Amino acid sequence: MAFSVCVYCSASTTDPALLELAAEVGAEIGRRGWTLVSGGGRVSMMGALASSARANGGYTIGVIPRHLMTAEVPDHDAGELLVTNNMGERKALMTKYADAFLALPGGIGTLEELFETWTGGYLGEHSKPVVVLDHDGFYDGLFTWLDELYERGFVTTRARDRISVARDVATALDALTPIRAI
Ligand code: AMP
Repeated sequence: MAFSVCVYCSASTTDPALLELAAEVGAEIGRRGWTLVSGGGRVSMMGALASSARANGGYTIGVIPRHLMTAEVPDHDAGELLVTNNMGERKALMTKYADAFLALPGGIGTLEELFETWTGGYLGEHSKPVVVLDHDGFYDGLFTWLDELYERGFVTTRARDRISVARDVATALDALTPIRAI
């Protein structure tokens, strides 16, 4: 079975640079022959990511909650489109199908998914890589605050080491594999 990466990203931005970034990530996933697991919507970065992965030979699995089918526009071109009853089921299926996780720029949905995946890895619920693509300093504010929490003793070294931050697409995708056990 192909290596499978779950990508979290915005379902709302129209910033052309970020849509292009999502397309670039999708293209690289496709070129590497990986499977993309994502939110199963056609909107914003989610849509750009999945269509570009397919255009470059990648297999795509979309996981979308029923109640978001209008807002996020189901990606019927996905190799598999899985419809769930709620967000919890969506995240569980995405986690089940993924060998690794990548967060691109996004809003609170992306952050929620990133933090759940990150803490899941840190607490030993899975041993899959978790990578953030900090494109153009998008996540700098978050990591500055997390560094402060680290200095104040709220974040451990082990937690901090459980995530990788990359500045460009190739470095981010390289960091997703091979699978590391911690
Ligand atoms: P956003 O980053 O806010 O644009 O959202 C990106 C994706 O995360 C969208 O597909 C949202 O439906 C999804 N999302 C929003 N809230 C949650 C949540 N609590 N759990 C899982 N996914 C979510």
